[in-house]
Amino acid sequence: MPRIPVRLVTWEEIVEWSRGLAKRIEEQGYQPDVVIAIARGGFVPARLICDFLGVENLLSIQSQHWTEAAMKGERAVIKFKYTIDLRGMKALLVDDIVDTGDSMILAKEFIEQNWKPDVLKTAALQWISSVAKIKPDFYYIEVKEWVWFQYPWTRLEDTVQFIKRMLTEEARSGKTAWKIEEIKEKFKEWYGIMVEDQYFLKALEILISKGMLRVKDDTYYVVLK
Ligand code: AMP
Repeated sequence: MPRIPVRLVTWEEIVEWSRGLAKRIEEQGYQPDVVIAIARGGFVPARLICDFLGVENLLSIQSQHWTEAAMKGERAVIKFKYTIDLRGMKALLVDDIVDTGDSMILAKEFIEQNWKPDVLKTAALQWISSVAKIKPDFYYIEVKEWVWFQYPWTRLEDTVQFIKRMLTEEARSGKTAWKIEEIKEKFKEWYGIMVEDQYFLKALEILISKGMLRVKDDTYYVVLK
């Protein structure tokens, strides 16, 4: 059993899920004039939804909650509180996943109060029904058991954080010197997935540049701070 349940999501699945979500929106007769992506996770799904629903207007709002992969920040915040006028328009707010729901709740409230569209509906590729405080108007997949979905647009970021977290904890129990194959093995054990070499090697490079790792004669040494 992995320490943290992670499910790797492919680009192909993202396209398939976005197409499926767009179909549900269409079947329920909603045709938005404008799509609003919740940054950053909602960008790719929102762009695909625009394509599948034939929507030209795409905006974004940054509602940030999770600062690190599978690590929740204290509370969600709207990062850039600009105001635009959406009166007379039907809007669709899109995110990749509704987990706690805090990001979507906050973005929705902010838009309703400040941008004032005539109608605002919410959509997400995935909805974790067991924990979410909000059910989006449209979703494609209902997730019942919590998992961290490793989406393709955070592959490097997540890999960096996953390796960092794992090596820090392993170092506390005494192991500070690693061969690359050992790091990969441990990664699979911890997270139950593997990423392509180009991501794994780049992630190690980033950790070296941040001073968390040092490398000598093909051995990686963890620098505990
Ligand atoms: P939340 O406010 O908890 O609903 O989550 C806000 C954002 O964090 C989501 O839009 C995702 O980008 C990211 N996120 C939260 N939970 C997960 C998860 N289980 N898997 C992947 N990304 C997640």
